[in-house]
Formats: sequence, C-alpha cells, structure tokens
Amino acid sequence: MDEQAKKTALRMIPYGLYILSAGTLETEIAAATVNWVTQTSFAPPLLALGIKTDSHVYAAARDSGDLVLNILGKGQGGLAFSFFKPATYADGKLSGEAITWAANGAPILASAPAAIELKVRKIVELGDHHTFIAEVTSVHLNQQIEGRPDEAVLHMKDLGEKVFYGG
Ligand code: FAD
Repeated sequence: MDEQAKKTALRMIPYGLYILSAGTLETEIAAATVNWVTQTSFAPPLLALGIKTDSHVYAAARDSGDLVLNILGKGQGGLAFSFFKPATYADGKLSGEAITWAANGAPILASAPAAIELKVRKIVELGDHHTFIAEVTSVHLNQQIEGRPDEAVLHMKDLGEKVFYGG
C-alpha cells in the first residue's frame, strides 16, 4: 500500500472534536480531546470510540466503565487544544475548567453545549487504540441549539489545515 495515499485517503474522513472524560472522584479522573467517535446503533443507542491504549483516559475508561462525551461548540478550539495534554483535577476544576458531575460520576465541562453520558459495554482490543462500544445512558443539553445541531459544533477542519488525527 502507498503510505502517502493511505494517509491522504484516511484524512478525507470528516471528524468532530470532543472532550472525553472518564472516571469518578472515587476512582481516577482523566480527560482528553478525541475525534474517533461515531454512533453505531439506535436501539440501544451506542457509540464507538477509538481510545489510545497508553493514555490516562484509556485506563480511567476501562477501570470505571463510566464516560462523558463533551461536545464542543464552534469557537471552542482553545478548549480542544487544552485537552491534547493530560488533564489535571484540582480545586473542583478540570484543567482549570468549571465542571458539573454526571449521574454516572464522571465530570461534565460546564461550557460544553451538550454532554452525553456513556456506559462501556464492550472493548474491542485491536490496534494501538481500542474500540470502546458504549451505551448512551443520559444526555445534557446545556444550550439552546438553533438550526442543524451538527452546524453548531466544532469540527476538526476548524482547527486549521495542519491539525489531523488519522492516516
Ligand atoms: P496521554 O497524554 O496519552 O499520557 C501522558 C503520559 O502519561 C504518557 O507518557 C503516558 O505514557 C503516561 N500514562 C498514560 N496512562 C497512564 C497511567 N494510567 N498511569 C500512569 N501514566 C500513564 N486520543 C485518543 O485516544 N482518541 C482520539 O480520537 C484522539 N484524537 C485526537 C485528535 C487530535 C487532533 C489530537 C492532537 C490528539 C488526539 N488524541 C486522541 C490524543 C489525546 O488528545 C492525547 O493523547 C491526550 O493527551 C490524552 O491524555 P491522557 O492524559 O489520557 O494521556
């Protein structure tokens, strides 16, 4: 396979950007910006997420089974950049960001326009990222959304032509 062609073709898949938080105060809290996310079933509502096996967020997600997918809005690119590095929980804030707590015990970013609570149902252990199949157990709509909901969110392409995760 032509490596450059593979990279180019795979980078043609469009992505959103999200901050995935995992774990609870009783376990370990971790959070990271991710893009490898998609819905895979209506009933039950399931999402598939690709999570890097050597990351804190992987350990917290696997050990607790409790996740929150924080949807980022247009204009929240700075927040995406903050969570490309490991998150810190101190003084009731996550990497300096105000949070609330999901019913499953994981943190929700207060500024996220929406957040989706997830319960891990299966982990497919293939590759350098494992695929987490997780069921939607609750949602939080923190802002009134006008028009198409997918127009209100941050997309990978909004971060500029040099930022990719894929290929
Ligand atoms: P890391 O930053 O990976 O870990 C930091 C250090 O801690 C590493 O040295 C690691 O070895 C060490 N460490 C890890 N786990 C533990 C542990 N349990 N105990 C002790 N030390 C540990 N990542 C994804 O998984 N999925 C995505 O879809 C995704 N999309 C991305 C998109 C973009 C555009 C970019 C730039 C990055 C993306 N990432 C993605 C990477 C992710 O944002 C970073 O890896 C993020 O820093 C993860 O933070 P972390 O704390 O979980 O672990």
